Amino acid sequence: MKIKAQISMVMNLDKCIGCHTCSITCKNTWTNREGAEYMYFNNVETKPGIGYPRNWEDQNRWKGGWVLKNGKLELATGSKASRLLKLFYHPQQPELKDYFEPWTYDYETLIHSKRKNNQPVARPRSLITKERMEVEWGPNWEDDLAGGDTARADINLKNIGQEVALDFHDIFMKYLPRLCNHCLNPACVAACPSGAMYKRDEDGVVLVNQDVCRGWRHCVPACPYKKVYYNWKTNKAEKCVFCYPRLENGLPMICADTCVGRMRYAGVLLYDMDRVQAAAATPNKEDIYENVLDILLDPHDPAVIAAAREEGISENWIKAAQESPVYKMVKEWKIALPLHAEYRTVPMVWYVPPMSPILHQRAAGVNFPESEEMRIPVAYLSQLLAAGNEAVIRRVLQTLIDLRRFMQKQTRGESTDEFKERYDTDQLMAMYR
Ligand code: SF4
Ligand code: SF4
Repeated sequence: MKIKAQISMVMNLDKCIGCHTCSITCKNTWTNREGAEYMYFNNVETKPGIGYPRNWEDQNRWKGGWVLKNGKLELATGSKASRLLKLFYHPQQPELKDYFEPWTYDYETLIHSKRKNNQPVARPRSLITKERMEVEWGPNWEDDLAGGDTARADINLKNIGQEVALDFHDIFMKYLPRLCNHCLNPACVAACPSGAMYKRDEDGVVLVNQDVCRGWRHCVPACPYKKVYYNWKTNKAEKCVFCYPRLENGLPMICADTCVGRMRYAGVLLYDMDRVQAAAATPNKEDIYENVLDILLDPHDPAVIAAAREEGISENWIKAAQESPVYKMVKEWKIALPLHAEYRTVPMVWYVPPMSPILHQRAAGVNFPESEEMRIPVAYLSQLLAAGNEAVIRRVLQTLIDLRRFMQKQTRGESTDEFKERYDTDQLMAMYR
């Protein structure tokens, strides 16, 4: 066993209000300069939707991330080859138009021009057909501007592979804040021919050494989450640095610190590095999540603490792991899930799935998952957060709904005996707090 420490984050999707404060504070801190205009280390996209950069989830289009071949992981970019051969391989790159080109207004003309019947609007206008999506688009276009038309329902359906027509009132959306996952098995690091991409030993933050980067850009398509960017001014790769200078000074990441919904939780995880590759190469993608949970270690276990000390992990970090809200939500309570675990990079940013759509069922006294009537289909959530394993989503949502019921009964001073059969009620109390 080789123990490592990883700084990690959980986001509770029910609490995201889509205000984009996190993206703006991140931008002002890290990418507010020439060459980085189009970059958002943190972005908040509307789901279902084509995202930023557009269609980043289409792994066939970008050929990113790891693929499982004959029981072994290979980079889908073809970068399994030697470093020298990698230099001659030119994977498909996202273009500026895929990120959405920022525009600026001619304020002089806007202010002084006469009011007309049709005022100028931004270029994107509609999301009706696939062809038009190619030319008319912007991040969060599916949100407020796309409108509640049948086209949007159609797109929702295509994302979850269903043919059934949705009525207007069935249309759903949610927000998905995204940043680099500081993966345990980072495809960006594996793809870099220069050795410029690296994972920091002490806290697992994935960084680009700007002095070593030669601008090969293999990391950009290799990241299946498309969270590495190319700076056209410096000709170097850039990415989220998990605000490591803030972490080193005892402060949380700027996105977490400024989150209006208070939906981000930062914390430390301890894991067994020797088991990462095997977990990533789990044959059945639907089992990856469970296998990744197995590599996370209990920071209260005396054997783990002793091994961590032997590995040189400081007492402060061990204490941080013991007090980590991330450990509680990910491993103890099992309510936070990895985004697209099937990409096999073992991401270390986790998400609590949204449960608001089933609240009305709780009010009606209907247990989930007995009732299938959910506004956000389980099939869609499982595709996003459980590598297609619907049972995982059902279990998490059931836990969340039970927690709410438990809280209500506690608050009213009513009996909570009904929960004793299925839960350690001390644990529910801890979640409640
Ligand atoms: Fe690398 Fe992408 Fe994982 Fe970040 S999310 S560590 S850029 S593979
Ligand atoms: Fe969501 Fe928080 Fe970002 Fe606002 S600041 S968009 S609530 S993650």
